[in-house]
Amino acid sequence: MVDELGLTILIEDSVAETGSRLIAKHGLSVFAEAKIGKSTVQIMMDVGPSAEALLNNADILDVNLRKTDVIVLSHGHYDHGECLINLLGNMGKPVPVVAHPRIFNPKFSVDPKLRFNGLSFAISDVEKAGGIPLLTKDPLKIAKGVTTTGEIERITSYENVRGFWTIDQDRIIKDSMLDDQALIFNLKNKGLVVIAGCAHAGIVNTVNYAKKLMKTSKVYGVLGGFHLVGASNERIEVTVKDLLR
Ligand SMILES: [Zn+2]
Repeated sequence: MVDELGLTILIEDSVAETGSRLIAKHGLSVFAEAKIGKSTVQIMMDVGPSAEALLNNADILDVNLRKTDVIVLSHGHYDHGECLINLLGNMGKPVPVVAHPRIFNPKFSVDPKLRFNGLSFAISDVEKAGGIPLLTKDPLKIAKGVTTTGEIERITSYENVRGFWTIDQDRIIKDSMLDDQALIFNLKNKGLVVIAGCAHAGIVNTVNYAKKLMKTSKVYGVLGGFHLVGASNERIEVTVKDLLR
């Protein structure tokens, strides 16, 4: 179990104060520091689209990125992972990168026009930059009480993925974003803290799967992207109801 958990939001779409030197970028990066007994583990959940913004914000927020033990990528969209190569070049040491194997599939949308929204680099670039890719569909235990979800079970009837496309065996197919995963902390005396990237699998599916994996029904906190922009009121209402439950 995790004794203490500190979270610093390094990148998101907005900054709280005007006049702040922090840089807002569309995307997400969360730096997590978890104390487990006498040891501490530092994890970056997503890295965002811009190394310039990430390094700037980490500096202002007093986060030493070189202490990162593991980088977790929630999925293969550019706003969560594009600056990985530049970031790895600044780490000064090899760093494991945990992700689903499908993060490197081509990812695009066509509405209102063709737009690539995947990662512009390949797995070989990650290795060249000093990353150690650990690509798996399975949950990966990072420390006692800390794990990735791996590929998330999709159970709810109302959490569906729309608007994304990929290419599989030369055919264009709808991208259900199977690479989407979350990071879970089991916080002592509190319950689970679940960090989602975009929650393309659905935030309720994500939390339910986290509970199942960690064998507890206690949830303390859920944060990250929920990807409900453009969702129907009906879906939002059911999501809120199920999250409260
Ligand atoms: Zn996404």
